[in-house]
Amino acid sequence: MARRRWEPPHRSLCAVTREEPRPADRCAVRAIERDVASARLGTTPWPRSRGAVHLVGAGPGDPDLLTLRAVRLMREAEVVVYDYLVSDAILAFLNPRAELIYAGKRQGRHALSQDEINRLLLALARRGRRVLRLKGGDPFVFGRGGEEAEYLASRGVPFEVVPGVTSASGAAAYAGIPLTHRDRARAVVFVTGHLKDGSCDLDWPMLARARQTVVIYMGVTRVAEICAQLVVHGLDPATPAAVIEKATTPSQRVVAATVGTLAAVAAEAGVKPPALIVIGEVVALRESLDRQLASIRGRELPRAAA
Ligand code: SAH
Repeated sequence: MARRRWEPPHRSLCAVTREEPRPADRCAVRAIERDVASARLGTTPWPRSRGAVHLVGAGPGDPDLLTLRAVRLMREAEVVVYDYLVSDAILAFLNPRAELIYAGKRQGRHALSQDEINRLLLALARRGRRVLRLKGGDPFVFGRGGEEAEYLASRGVPFEVVPGVTSASGAAAYAGIPLTHRDRARAVVFVTGHLKDGSCDLDWPMLARARQTVVIYMGVTRVAEICAQLVVHGLDPATPAAVIEKATTPSQRVVAATVGTLAAVAAEAGVKPPALIVIGEVVALRESLDRQLASIRGRELPRAAA
């Protein structure tokens, strides 16, 4: 039986905008809420057959890292609420008829606040819409997916969570840095460099331990402070360290140094978010893995015999 071939996406991206803030989106939230309120849907018991939210991880950037479930939902989507970190190459897979709502969240510049996003998801679902909530990486790793899930669950909205490749996994794989290694790292810690109150008050003694890999999300603008604290708390400044910018995209850059020199090297290179800091002996493996690593990426796999 002939199988249906996968058609590559040819979506025009002119409808997609990332300008921030986009007042139209904020108005859309209010208009949708008004609609829902006037239909009094908010006070009736939740109709199970109606709207729902799919919290979907879009991975770190390369569309080849999407899950099949994510692609299937993207092809069928009717309304999509997406974040800044979802790459254009991934948006190109969306159903061309889907309504797109940009939720923003670039560091410090939010098109919609988290509360507005939560309310938007609820209002759309209450209107009977199937909402694709598309988030960078994995929704449950520093993506506030947990907060959105809590909000929906407490209001009786049916939802599912589709995992995505978190940027630490994507970046490590594409940069040639195994996150664990029997001789070099027996543990891996994912930590955020940006706390809710804007501070960077981390558990430094735990992070400064030897024989582990530390991956810091949202920390690149504080790389100097982070590295200095690790050294103060006992980490050898000669420990290998790297910053990986725009991991898994065609503009990926890897800046490798040591904990003692990373801040200066990253500043010199002009590294910008989104980027991850990776610290640990495993970073040194990159030198031996890198040369062969990318040599087949982007090439088609040989076709299997029919
Ligand atoms: N849920 C996401 C993380 C969201 S927090 C995930 O699982 O990956 C946002 C942070 O993720 C960014 O500040 C950056 O540190 C990291 N990040 C996301 N995409 C990235 C990419 N393509 N390259 C490097 N870092 C990335």
